[in-house]
Amino acid sequence: MALHQFHDAARYLSLKRGIREYLATPHRELVVHFPVKMDDGSVRLFTGYRVHHSSVLGPTKGGIRYSPQVEINEVRALAMWMTWKSALMHLPYGGAKGGVACDPRQLSREELQRLTRRYASEISILMGPQSDIPAPDVGTDAQVMAWIMDTYSMQRGYSVPSVVTGKPIPIGGSVGRSDATGRGVMIATREATRLRGVPFAGSRIAIQGFGNVGEAAARLLHDQGCRIVAVSDITGGCYSPEGLDPRAVLRHLRRTGTVVGFPGSEALSNLDILELPCDVLVPAAIEGQITGHNAARVKAGIIVEAANGPTTPEADAILAGREILVVPDILANAGGVTVSYFEWVQDLQAYFWSEQEINDHLERIMVSTFKRVADLAVARQTTLRTAALVVAVQRVADALMTRGIYP
Ligand code: NAD
Repeated sequence: MALHQFHDAARYLSLKRGIREYLATPHRELVVHFPVKMDDGSVRLFTGYRVHHSSVLGPTKGGIRYSPQVEINEVRALAMWMTWKSALMHLPYGGAKGGVACDPRQLSREELQRLTRRYASEISILMGPQSDIPAPDVGTDAQVMAWIMDTYSMQRGYSVPSVVTGKPIPIGGSVGRSDATGRGVMIATREATRLRGVPFAGSRIAIQGFGNVGEAAARLLHDQGCRIVAVSDITGGCYSPEGLDPRAVLRHLRRTGTVVGFPGSEALSNLDILELPCDVLVPAAIEGQITGHNAARVKAGIIVEAANGPTTPEADAILAGREILVVPDILANAGGVTVSYFEWVQDLQAYFWSEQEINDHLERIMVSTFKRVADLAVARQTTLRTAALVVAVQRVADALMTRGIYP
C-alpha cells in the first residue's frame, strides 16, 4: 500500500528513476532476536525491528509498536509513511518505525519492562537525539517511553530526555502530547467538514479503535459538540445513535477491559462499525480496515484516517468514485509527530512551553497544512491523499537533490 501510494505521487512529480528507487527503499534496517526472562523463570525469544526509511531531512522519527502482527514489511511501510508525514508538516525529521512481535496484553508489567529495556538496548546503536527518536504507537505508551529513555540514559551515564518523545511529563515529556494525535484528528475533522460545507457540531462520528488516538479523538470531538455514535476496541464495539459519552466509555473500559457492553449501547463488530450510518468515520486502530470488499458499503461522507494506512488502494479508488472525502493518515494523524517535535525541541533547550502554546502551534500548523493540501487537490483535481503525498515527496526529493548524492 505504501509503495503503491508513493509511486502514484512519484508519477505525478515525474521523479527520475534513480530518485524514485531510492525513495521507495528503506535506507537502513535492523532486525534483532533477543531473550527475555519471564516471571515463571523461563526464557522466551522475541524479534524486534527498527527501520529508517529516510534521514534526508533530519534525524529519523517514528513510533514503536508492540503487536503480534509486527513484521518487517509492516515496519517498512510505517517508516515510509513517517518520512512523508514529517515532510508534509515541514518538520526537520526523516522517517522511521520500530516494533516487537509480541502481545503486550499477555505480558506482566515486569515482563514488559524487561522486554522494553532489552529491545531499547538492542536498537541503541541506531537511537539518539540527533539520529533516531522513537515515540509511542500501537501497544506502547508513555511508560514504555520512560523505560526506553532510562535504558538509553543508563548506557550513556547521564539523562537524555530528548532520545524519545511521548514520555511522561515529569521526565521531560510535553504537556499536550498525550492528546496531540487525537487533537490533530479533531482539527482535521473540523477542517474536512468545513471543506465539504457540512456542519461540524452535531455531526455523527464513528471511531474504530479506542486507544491513545481513538479515545482522545472521541473525547475532543465530543467536547466540540459532535455526536460519537460508536467506538470499538480489539474486542468489539458499542453503538448508540443518540451518542456516547467518551469519558464514561473510558471508565467502563478501565473497569471491564473492553468497550463492549457499555450500558445503554448495542454491541457491534469492528467490521460493522465501518459501515454504520454516520457523517464521519474515523478508523483509529490498525491498517487495512477499509478494503475493496467493504468500501462500497461505507455510509459516512468523510473518512478521517487517524490510524496509519487504514484504507487500501482498491478502497481508495471506490471511495473517490463515490465522492467520499478521505483525509489521509499523513495529514489527519500528524498532530502526534508535530507535538513530538515540540517535545524534542523543549528537551534540547531544557525550556518548557505552556499547554496553550503547544495547542496554538499545533492548531496553526494543522490548519495551514490542511489548506495547502486541499488547495492543491482542487487545483490538480486529485484526492487529498495524492495531494498530501505530492507535497511531502516533493520536499524530500528537493532536499535530496539539493544535498546531492554522496560521495
Ligand atoms: P493503541 O494501542 O493505544 O490503541 C489501538 C486501539 O485499536 C485499541 O483500542 C485496540 O484495542 C484497537 N485495536 C488493536 N488491534 C485491533 C484490531 N486488529 N482490530 C480492531 N481494533 C484493534 O494505539 P494508538 O497509539 O492509538 O494507535 C492507533 C493507530 O494510530 C495506529 O495506526 C497508529 O500507527 C496510529 N498513530 C498513532 C499515533 C500516536 O501518537 N500514538 C500517532 C500517529 C498515528
